[in-house]
Amino acid sequence: MAGDSLGSGPSAPVARVFATVGPELVEAIREAKPNRVILQVPGGLVRNAHELAARLRDSTGVPVDLATRPCFGACDFPSRDEAPRADLAVVLGHAPIPNVPLPRSTFFVEMRETGGDPERLAGIVAEARLPRHLGLVASVQHLDLVEPLRTALGRHGYEVHIGTGDRRLAFPAQALGCNYTGAEAVAGKVDAFLFLGTGNFHPIGLAFAVDRPVHALDPLQGVLEAPIDRGALIRKRQLVVAGVREARRWGILVSTFAGQNRSPTALALQERARARGWDAEILLFDRLDGRDLEGRAFDAYVNTACPRIALDDGGNYPKPILTPPEFLMVLGELPLEPYRFDTYH
Ligand code: SF4
Repeated sequence: MAGDSLGSGPSAPVARVFATVGPELVEAIREAKPNRVILQVPGGLVRNAHELAARLRDSTGVPVDLATRPCFGACDFPSRDEAPRADLAVVLGHAPIPNVPLPRSTFFVEMRETGGDPERLAGIVAEARLPRHLGLVASVQHLDLVEPLRTALGRHGYEVHIGTGDRRLAFPAQALGCNYTGAEAVAGKVDAFLFLGTGNFHPIGLAFAVDRPVHALDPLQGVLEAPIDRGALIRKRQLVVAGVREARRWGILVSTFAGQNRSPTALALQERARARGWDAEILLFDRLDGRDLEGRAFDAYVNTACPRIALDDGGNYPKPILTPPEFLMVLGELPLEPYRFDTYH
C-alpha cells in the first residue's frame, strides 16, 4: 500500500507486516499519512512503550497515542471506541490473524528474532535422540529459523514436517495459542513435535491440541525442555468437567473483541442448555475481569472468548470455567476421551 493516504478519507483497512520497529515501519507510516496512530504493545513491552511512541512520533511527525490495554494477541487490537480518532494502528509482537476484520488499517510488527544457530540447535535435538519424524512449530518471533533448522535436522537424518493451518494462521509452522491447526495437519506423520520459542504458553497449547510428545527448544539459549505432561493437563481438565456435572445455572461468556467474538457458538450452546431445562445466560465483556463474575448466581461458566482463559487461568475465577468442547462433554455430546482442544477457527 505504498503511497496510500489514510488521512485523505475512508478506504478499506489494510494489514501490513513488519519484522521489527525500524526504518521500513517509519517510512510506511509516513507514506500512509494517517491523522493519528494508536500504538498497542504486549504486556512484556509496556515498560518501553512510551519511549517507542515518542520515537515514532518524532520520526514520522504523526501524533501517536498509546493504548493502555496491552494486547494478548492479534485478536484484541484497539476497537473503534477505544481509539476513535486513530486511523492507523501499530500493533507489536503479533502476526495478523487473516480472518479477523480490522476496524482500521493496522501495521503488525512481529518482532522477528534473527538469532539462533540452526546447526547447533539440530545437534542438540540429535543428541537428545528425539524421534526421527518430527513436526516443527514456532512462535512468530522465530519463524525465520524454521526452514534453516529443518535443513540442518535433515543432515542429522531427521524427516521434518511443517504444517499449514487454517484461515486463522498467517504462516506455515506458526503457533497461535488458540489454533494449532498447522501442527494438527501433520500430526499423523510425526512421532513428536518440536516447538521453537520461549516460555510454556505454546508448548502447553500444542500439547492440548495434538496427541504427540511436545518438546520445547529455546532457540537463543539452546535449552531443550523435557516433553510436556499431556496426560496431567488433560486429567486436570477432565476433573473440572466432572466437577460441574450437576451445574444447572450457566453463564456463557462472550467477548466483544473482534478476534475473540464467537457469538454464534454462544447462542448455540445457550440453546442446547435451555433444551435441557438448564438456565443459560449470555454475559458480554471485552477483556474478562474476574471481579465482574463475583456474586453472580451461576454454578459455572462456559467461555467462548480466548480458549486459554479457561485452560491456563481458570483457577483465578470464582466459579469453574469450561471451554465450549468441555461444555459439550458435560452435556454428554462429546466424549471425555479423546480430549478435544478448543480450537478457535
Ligand atoms: S484468542 Fe487467545 S490465544 Fe488466540 S490469539 Fe487471542 S489471546 Fe492469543
